[in-house]
Amino acid sequence: MIEMPEAVTIAQQMRETLVGKTIQHFSRGALIHKFLWLSKPAEEYDAILAGLPVTGATSFGRSIYLYAGDVHLLWFGELGGRILYHLQGEALPAKYHLRWDFTDASSLTFNMQMWGFVGLLKRSELAAHPYAEVGIPPLSVRFSLECFDQLLEDYPEKTKKGVKGFLVTSKHINGIGNGYLQDILFKAKIHPSRKIPSLTAHERQKLHAAIQDTLAEAIRLGGREDERDLFDHPGGYKRLMSKETVGKPCPECGTKIEKIAYLGGACYLCPNCQV
Ligand SMILES: [Zn+2]
Repeated sequence: MIEMPEAVTIAQQMRETLVGKTIQHFSRGALIHKFLWLSKPAEEYDAILAGLPVTGATSFGRSIYLYAGDVHLLWFGELGGRILYHLQGEALPAKYHLRWDFTDASSLTFNMQMWGFVGLLKRSELAAHPYAEVGIPPLSVRFSLECFDQLLEDYPEKTKKGVKGFLVTSKHINGIGNGYLQDILFKAKIHPSRKIPSLTAHERQKLHAAIQDTLAEAIRLGGREDERDLFDHPGGYKRLMSKETVGKPCPECGTKIEKIAYLGGACYLCPNCQV
């Protein structure tokens, strides 16, 4: 899934590569996926976008916004998959779900994995959308330790769900998914099932720092190694806790890294370091 470091990386590459191009045509690929949501019929996407220039790209948490003309934007919501740029004459992927062709014969494809939302909205509609720009991006100035403490305090399920549930729900902190979660909890030495009221002030502080350090490092490295950027290059961030490292020794204490199933997805952790 695209998490904040991938969204930042791809939005920057979109700004550098796509701004100034004119969209010629939008189309769906041969692949249809019932968990790919558009905000209107695909024909309307083509009718609206054809002839519009790409005017910018930004990210907010796990979302990417690609601006078309002065009025519209494409919103790549919380999603998994590949958003790839192709030069004129370059072979397109064998399979893709969505495609944008530009007038200079280059193109953009999106091949979804798992699920995703690619909305076409007016910029003025974004602010009122219930799922847009919710939560606090963890590298924003708003995300102080005091703000983090308050978010933890206000989490309605703090006595029911472990800290994992809080961290991966974008309406609280917007940017973390199951990928970076593992390393964040490892660095903070906290077990994913720990209930929030049991966290000490020192643990909250370590968790806040681990969130910011992990995501900042991943942005510097262009995202994580199992995701791809706009040019189909893997990111440089190697996860400490992942399916690649399960069974290997913990980098801190040497205990074997374990995999557990918790809250709808695998967790990778050190059973000795993380309590
Ligand atoms: Zn350990």
